[in-house]
Amino acid sequence: MDDCLFCRIASGEVGADIIEERPTAIAFRDINPQAPVHVLIIPKEHIPQIKDLKPEHCEVLADIFSLMRDIGISEGIDMRGYRIVCNIGEEAGQEVEHLHFHMMGGRFMKWPPG
Ligand code: 5GP
Ligand code: ZN
Repeated sequence: MDDCLFCRIASGEVGADIIEERPTAIAFRDINPQAPVHVLIIPKEHIPQIKDLKPEHCEVLADIFSLMRDIGISEGIDMRGYRIVCNIGEEAGQEVEHLHFHMMGGRFMKWPPG
């Protein structure tokens, strides 16, 4: 998708602070971090949101969760705790229409979220 920001980050056309990669997924730091650690994990393929997932996407989902596991360790937050957020659609505040998981840590989190 030429007009999708996260597709352009995944292809390298738009720069980002990439921290890790898997065959089908990539992780980079959020440009506007809401916590000391704020990483976005995305599929390289343009999948707009969860309703667009198909059975053949199990590998990409496995890559995404494997990345999040490893980033928890490499960022030093695996033992302290962290939050994974996936905003879906307008009411949840999804701004970028390319499936992504926020991984935030390094501070105490409130519940319920705003
Ligand atoms: P959403 O609101 O869609 O769940 O989250 C989109 C996230 O993408 C936001 O946290 C925002 O800060 C981040 N973001 C928007 N534009 C860019 C960008 O150009 N580079 C990076 N690294 N993050 C971005
Ligand atoms: Zn995209």
